[in-house]
Amino acid sequence: MLTEAEKVWKKVLEEIKEKAPPQAFSTWFEPTKGASLKQNTLWVLVPNSFFIDWIEEHYHSLIYDTLTQAYGEPLKIKYHVVERIKERIPPSKLYRIDSSQLQSRYTFDNFVIGDGNKFARAASFAVATVPGKQYNPLFLYGTVGLGKTHLLQAIGNYVKEKLPELKVYYTSCETFMNEMVDAIQNNKIIQFKKKYRFRDVLLIDDIQFLEAKESLQEEIFHTFNSLYDAGKQVVISSDRPPSALATLEERLVSRFQGGLVCDIKPPSFEIRLAILKKKAELSGIQVPDEIINFIAERIKSNIRELEGALIKLFALTSLTDTKLTLESAKELLKDVITKPNEEITINKIQKIVTNYYKISLTALRGKRRQQSIVRPRQVAIYLAREHTPTSLKEIGNMFGNRNHATIIHDYNKVRKLIDNNEDFKEEVNNILKLIKGE
Ligand code: ADP
Ligand code: MG
Repeated sequence: MLTEAEKVWKKVLEEIKEKAPPQAFSTWFEPTKGASLKQNTLWVLVPNSFFIDWIEEHYHSLIYDTLTQAYGEPLKIKYHVVERIKERIPPSKLYRIDSSQLQSRYTFDNFVIGDGNKFARAASFAVATVPGKQYNPLFLYGTVGLGKTHLLQAIGNYVKEKLPELKVYYTSCETFMNEMVDAIQNNKIIQFKKKYRFRDVLLIDDIQFLEAKESLQEEIFHTFNSLYDAGKQVVISSDRPPSALATLEERLVSRFQGGLVCDIKPPSFEIRLAILKKKAELSGIQVPDEIINFIAERIKSNIRELEGALIKLFALTSLTDTKLTLESAKELLKDVITKPNEEITINKIQKIVTNYYKISLTALRGKRRQQSIVRPRQVAIYLAREHTPTSLKEIGNMFGNRNHATIIHDYNKVRKLIDNNEDFKEEVNNILKLIKGE
């Protein structure tokens, strides 16, 4: 017979199984178990604290909603680490999100400083120390997984600790928009405005989301102005600089550029090593140097993936009690390290091709017939057809609704050129390597 805790948790898992990718489900949810249900709190057993982190980060709201449904009234959920593995993380350090939407694990202390991020880190720290004074707004940009969210959150956590009288709030641009739409629908726009305009420090993550969304831009603009005029601090992150945010109104671009704009670049090998060592140390798990080296050598451009590899290693070894050796690490990480082909997407191809030829995405997908644009477009189409399972029609859609005859024409053009021109062949090969992350 199942206990009530087991039953409730089983229902939640059934729901998640429907919604989560199979691999994520088997790695992160199968090994968990409902342990007890008391005082309106469900305790769930997990193999180690990385599970808590991962589950909370990815499935927090889904779990919460399902739980309430399954039980019939709101239930709190708490996780408990099975004793099998000695954990050195004190429970207070386990990751919780507070009412400012801050997660305690993102701090300046555990942010490793390197060449690529030291400017952004210094500016963030300055802002956290004297918010609203020096750099306003602070605009951080860089590609995914390089620590933008970490820095925004670190600013929030630092202010919360050192200047507790200040009101800090973290939000992603997407959440901001969802709340705005909700507020409009439910006649709560005044509460919404209040919520965002009465903050001393407002941290808005992933602002690139507001591209092509006019009323969102309008709202952000006014929120920004009212905070700015009152001498409050605004910090923004984006995956590209303000000037490269397409369809962004001029007045917003100039607002964003009016403060300090900092970029974050991918870390060097040494910094990747340092980050991995720090993460291993924080988890309290011993990882042999040769494994750390191996991961740092293979994963180059994204700290989240670096961390993901480590977490995967911890999770799987703790579940199976395998000893960590270079061999077992290579085996465990083979999917992460040598990326399978299906990971190549048209978006990725377009991104790398536009970077490579230094043209804009709009031009790549657009109709212009200049040679400097036509060639990159043909290369991207060729790569999409050759290296993704996408149909001609879908490729056409992704390239400004071209018809399939045009796609075939462009593809053949590149094929012929590759056969006849060694330099061009190498050029395309180099781009392919970038796409594969080699
Ligand atoms: P972004 O928001 O730029 O996509 P994140 O801030 O989410 O990236 O970072 C991805 C992961 O890498 C996070 O878990 C973060 O803690 C970690 N990370 C990024 N940069 C650093 C760093 N310099 N030191 C330690 N951890 C880092
Ligand atoms: Mg982020």
